[in-house]
Amino acid sequence: MLTIDTYLRPKSLEEAYEAMQKKNNAVLGGMLWLRLGNRRIGTAIDLSALGLDQVEDAGNAWKIGAYTTLRTMEMHTDLQEEFRGVLRNCVSSIVGVQFRNLATVGGSVFGRYGFSDIVTTFLALDASVELYKHGIVSLEEFCGMGNVKDILTHIHLPKFPAAAAYCAQRNTVTDFPVLNTCAVLRNTTLTVTVGARPLRAVPFRFEICNTISAAEQAESIAKQISENTIFASNARASAEYRQHLCHVLVRRAVLEVLQKKEAE
Ligand SMILES: Cc1cc2nc3c(=O)[nH]c(=O)nc-3n(C[C@H](O)[C@H](O)[C@H](O)COP(=O)(O)OP(=O)(O)OC[C@H]3O[C@@H](n4cnc5c(N)ncnc54)[C@H](O)[C@@H]3O)c2cc1C
Repeated sequence: MLTIDTYLRPKSLEEAYEAMQKKNNAVLGGMLWLRLGNRRIGTAIDLSALGLDQVEDAGNAWKIGAYTTLRTMEMHTDLQEEFRGVLRNCVSSIVGVQFRNLATVGGSVFGRYGFSDIVTTFLALDASVELYKHGIVSLEEFCGMGNVKDILTHIHLPKFPAAAAYCAQRNTVTDFPVLNTCAVLRNTTLTVTVGARPLRAVPFRFEICNTISAAEQAESIAKQISENTIFASNARASAEYRQHLCHVLVRRAVLEVLQKKEAE
């Protein structure tokens, strides 16, 4: 059971940061993951007075506030247009609408969950995280940082991908993914991420060659990634099944982006 001793709604990020430095204090997101834990929180820090629930056009990037809900991101027309619908696709199987109306983008990224559909997609989109004290760091670096005592304020998503596609496999519709992948093409650089291995998502980068057919490139990239990724077994699937899925899902996602690009 989760127990909270006191509640704080800071008026500034500095006040929130100071408060979270104490060992048993914790920042609240939508509390959907947090509430499942068996821990005692000294002071629960609610950031809802700090205006972090906005999606902003910041010129070359979209800036998503940490308290933006998954549902807001999913329903944001400009974000769907910019990122070819992958932000909607990657969250659409996460439990249900009521759940996504509460779960926050910040809580989803800060947890860096291995099963995450969101981290897999943001990594492929070359996202950066803005931390109050550490500043802006790439999501890839943040994923390797271990325990961080800081406040995630925003996610930055650089604009102008040429094409993007998201694919995942679930045993039942709203269960955790057995495997997920996202492919994003920027100029001739293709980034493909594989997550829910069930380990944390990993990115791969390739240069696309215009003289080879989309089908051949997709097959070759799927083979390379599935043979060079570490998979593990858990209650949902074996490592062998995940490797097989990886080949199939990566091939589909890569083919989709290459065909989208060809069609333009
Ligand atoms: C039953 C269930 C099923 C799920 N299925 C999926 C799924 O299929 N795919 C998927 O991708 N995800 C899934 N999730 C994860 C979910 O989408 C959210 O990512 C998760 O609930 C965390 O978001 P939250 O807003 O609830 O954060 P919380 O639970 O409130 O917080 C999570 C952690 O992040 C910290 N935190 C929150 N916000 C900040 C911040 N701004 N700065 C610093 N620290 C912060 C908290 O202290 C806590 O440690 C599932 C979760 C549950 C409970």
